[in-house]
Amino acid sequence: MLKVGLTGGIGSGKTTVARVFEILGIPVFYADGASKRLYDEDEELQRSIKQHFGEELYSGGVFNREKMASIVFTDPPKLELLNSLVHPRTIADANNWMNRQQAPYVIKEAALIFESGSGADLDYIIGVSAPRHYRIQRVMERDGVNRDAFLQRAARQIDEEIKMKLCDFIVLNNEQQLVIPQVLELHHKLLRRSAELTSTSPVHH
Ligand code: ATP
Repeated sequence: MLKVGLTGGIGSGKTTVARVFEILGIPVFYADGASKRLYDEDEELQRSIKQHFGEELYSGGVFNREKMASIVFTDPPKLELLNSLVHPRTIADANNWMNRQQAPYVIKEAALIFESGSGADLDYIIGVSAPRHYRIQRVMERDGVNRDAFLQRAARQIDEEIKMKLCDFIVLNNEQQLVIPQVLELHHKLLRRSAELTSTSPVHH
């Protein structure tokens, strides 16, 4: 089974593209949603957060998201520390999940595949690319935020242009090319590559 990453800049349309793959029957892991769940469910992560940020982050046994946001919002080294605790747990969770799937290939949707170093576990990486002005406009509309909120998030990621150069395939979400035919073409390509892999892998008795 092939493991395929799906990444792109903020608001490029990763989730939108991932949903098309899901409709085609491909299992998709959403890293952002998973990490939110892990704050409450992963005991190892809880232990390390308490150790580095204090027991009060889990007062009442529940992760205090607002408190953590207020700590890391204005303190980049603390944000980096938090990421260094969360990313390995999300990567481990994604790998466990991927290994449980039964499909020709699976997709892991994550904004920070390159930044978190999780690309090494993946066979291919698809990049979703959209011009910056569309990304700003879409995120402002979707989240009801201003331009500054977009720029603040964007500052934590490597530049989209560099990111796209590191990807094996690109889906252009620029309101000129249609997205679904691009996803269909990639789907068939990945099915073919997965079949090649199966036909060339050694048979174990
Ligand atoms: P984030 O980085 O914030 O997780 P994302 O890369 O997952 O974002 P989406 O949430 O898929 O991006 O898309 C951002 C917004 O833009 C959504 O509201 C989505 O519906 C909209 N959008 C995506 N692609 C298009 C398109 N081709 N035309 C119009 N709207 C679009």
